[in-house]
Amino acid sequence: MVKLKTDEEIAILKENAVLVSKTLAEVGKKVAPGVTTMELDRLAETFIRDHGAVPGFLGYGGFPYTLCLSVNDVVVHGFPSDYRLVEGDIISVDCGTIFKGFYGDSAYTFPVGEVSAETAKLLEVTKESLERGIKMAVAGNRLGDIGHAVQSYIESFGYSAVREMVGHGIGRNMHESPEVPNYGNAGQGKKLLEGMTICIEPMINMGTRNIYLHENGWAISTSDGKYSAHFEKMVAIRKDHAEVLTDYDYIEGKKSYN
Ligand code: MG
Ligand code: MG
Repeated sequence: MVKLKTDEEIAILKENAVLVSKTLAEVGKKVAPGVTTMELDRLAETFIRDHGAVPGFLGYGGFPYTLCLSVNDVVVHGFPSDYRLVEGDIISVDCGTIFKGFYGDSAYTFPVGEVSAETAKLLEVTKESLERGIKMAVAGNRLGDIGHAVQSYIESFGYSAVREMVGHGIGRNMHESPEVPNYGNAGQGKKLLEGMTICIEPMINMGTRNIYLHENGWAISTSDGKYSAHFEKMVAIRKDHAEVLTDYDYIEGKKSYN
């Protein structure tokens, strides 16, 4: 069952999305060679609680941390650890909140120091594929329009989209209907309705789309060991446009906050 949201509910989801965006910005400022991923997790939890919210991932399905921190070939759901970031790494930071009874959920992949041109291209193309998916998130279009926009763009660079993990509806639950795949056929799938709120989150691999699950039952990596990037925004479906709730301007230093 897809739960359509009222404008009041979408406003609360936006408050969550903005807090997640600011948390990602705080984490991004600290991403550097020598920093442990656990330090990033600690600062995110403190920042979220200082703003009167609760970490959305902590305890969700038994997940033990505030952030999913996925380095290099880890696609998603990496555990924070004592691993020290190294120049040339990339780290996907996926963050959730609970505030006023609703969830927030967004992600951004940061380069650690200077990365290779090949790696920088993966980040740029994955982020752009998210924007292309978002452009299709308008009432009357179909889920396949979003997936097709992402897939066709990234495949033109020789990359592949992970299929086992998908985007999702979001509201009082972190994962609601519908599923939002990063592949698909234009004009097919469920129709997008005004008031739907979804997370679009391309997980894009430099090489094969195949993945494997780590022994901890959470982290997922590429089968070939090549890098994977992940960007995620919350979007409300409107009659003639996609209303983007997540704001990367905080992360990219185009907007200040406290
Ligand atoms: Mg998500
Ligand atoms: Mg997420």
